[in-house]
Amino acid sequence: MGTNGGAVPERQKLVYEGKAKQVYTTSDPDRVIVRFKDSATAFDGAKKAEITDKGRINAGISAFLMEKMAAAGIPTHFEQALSENEHLCKRVQIVPIEVVVRNVLAGSICKRFGLEEGGTLPYPMVEFFYKDDALHDPPMSDIHARLFGWAEDWELAYLRHAALKVNAALQDFWNGLGVTLVDFKLEFGRFSSGQLLLADEITPDGSRLWDSKTKQKLDKDVFRRDLGDLSDTYRQLYSRVFGHGVDAPQ
Ligand code: C5P
Repeated sequence: MGTNGGAVPERQKLVYEGKAKQVYTTSDPDRVIVRFKDSATAFDGAKKAEITDKGRINAGISAFLMEKMAAAGIPTHFEQALSENEHLCKRVQIVPIEVVVRNVLAGSICKRFGLEEGGTLPYPMVEFFYKDDALHDPPMSDIHARLFGWAEDWELAYLRHAALKVNAALQDFWNGLGVTLVDFKLEFGRFSSGQLLLADEITPDGSRLWDSKTKQKLDKDVFRRDLGDLSDTYRQLYSRVFGHGVDAPQ
């Protein structure tokens, strides 16, 4: 059964295959099935690997966090988990803007401005990047969105507002587990009603998460920087979130 009491729509055809996910249309034009893959990529696809159980770990974490965001008042595309690595979601048109929130300096901002990793910002920062792999997702500002037709002014305002609200809710959650939310990337989409929904995923693929005490990295930087076994890292993170391993009987 669907979350609103209706039957789950039937899977139809694969309409999108990205680096970490596949999207299928369904018999309901307003619903898609998102399947999380085990593949990991970095540096715009230049580095690739298959990571055991990454799909179901990320699907589990993303479902859990999307539900938390909905409870915190941020509407999302997530409707229900259909299997360990598949979600039924509202079908959206993705806004071509990657919304990054940073609490601690790391990654591309350090490179761009010659900053040292690890400094805590006095308050969170929201940055926009134009979503285009071939262009390596260049940093952008409101004027680009406005003049190039990527988003309306009210949408940009909403992206910032929602991203900061997501940040507060996620920080609350991760802090409780002894994990520092360094930064993360969100994507939003337009539903057929015109409403903006938090879309894509909330996973350690798109977040930087450090153990608050040891500063151990618990995210995809382990893969990007060859710091260890990503499958082991994601299993550890999954256990912290759910209190049991990914293979524990449900
Ligand atoms: O690379 P950068 O430091 O700008 O990344 C900020 C955050 O956004 C990181 O958590 C990274 O994993 C995420 N990100 C992403 N996809 C991208 C760019 C960044 O998930 N294309």
